[in-house]
Amino acid sequence: MYILGLEGTAHTLGVGILDEDGAVLANLLNTYSPEEGIHPREAANHHARKMLPALEEAMQTADIQPSDIGLVSFSQGPGLGPCLRTVATAARALSSSLDVPLVGVNHCIAHIEIGRLTTPCDDPVLLYASGGNTQVIAFTRGRYRVFGETLDIGIGNMLDKFGRENGMPFPAGPVIEKKAKDGDSLISLPYSVKGMDVSFSGILTAALKSDAELNDLCFSMQEVCFAMLTEVTERALAHTRKEEVLLGGGVARNERLRNMVETMAEERGAAAYAPPGPLCVDNGAMIGWTGYLMYRAGLTTPIEKSAVMQNYRTDDVDVIWR
Ligand code: AMP
Ligand code: MG
Repeated sequence: MYILGLEGTAHTLGVGILDEDGAVLANLLNTYSPEEGIHPREAANHHARKMLPALEEAMQTADIQPSDIGLVSFSQGPGLGPCLRTVATAARALSSSLDVPLVGVNHCIAHIEIGRLTTPCDDPVLLYASGGNTQVIAFTRGRYRVFGETLDIGIGNMLDKFGRENGMPFPAGPVIEKKAKDGDSLISLPYSVKGMDVSFSGILTAALKSDAELNDLCFSMQEVCFAMLTEVTERALAHTRKEEVLLGGGVARNERLRNMVETMAEERGAAAYAPPGPLCVDNGAMIGWTGYLMYRAGLTTPIEKSAVMQNYRTDDVDVIWR
């Protein structure tokens, strides 16, 4: 059988198709990215409009028919309510009309499982750095536990907000990365690590108020924020005694962040991995694969339990498939 995975927690509508060996046959990303950033209801409308063409294209790419699909999985949370509800509705409709099981997946956990599928890592500490989420996650005692996280906004949102105020297109992360390469003077910004947690709103305020040169500000924001993330990731590695780091989320595409994490890992004798680009960002294949792992362990989501959970916590899930 083939597995269909639908992702729609934020601005990306993802449609993935895999086989039972974990071969990714299609992984379609359809991203809504207006200049002024994400408006949840408009993003949801985008997903509704693109759903059918995306499904058709994914099935064409995978060279399968709707009747070949044996499982439908969808991102049940966390994320933006209107986006989650739109994609969940499509998932329910497909599961009923194809008469196949439905599995609701925790989006953050899917970033780990796709890393375990597509890189050599087996039991990593995940540094998940995306638009809305920033968490350090590792598996202990039957669950994926959050060892550290942002106390306010996600790192990607912070970069995007800074970019918007400085006339950059959305998403600003890649533009900031480029500008940072031309900066060299380290502007003082508040280094906000609190125990295992981080916060970014103070850095954003300080950066927006600063009259330093833009390239230097981009450089300094990256240096400070990424050092904070690397520090808490290292602490989680030391605490859990794990020997692998996995990167996930859109911000994890940043070369400087990757370098910092790789250097830290190397110095500890650990290994660092990241899934290939389209599987590192929000995507349907990761939802499909995680849904399949859950299904194989006997878990399915009856329609009456398929309501979306905007604040679905990583550590709410009993990970019986490991
Ligand atoms: P996601 O929420 O996982 O889809 O990732 C989207 C976020 O990743 C946005 O906030 C982007 O600004 C950010 N992003 C994408 N590429 C980069 C990059 N090269 N450096 C920093 N941030 C990035
Ligand atoms: Mg994500």
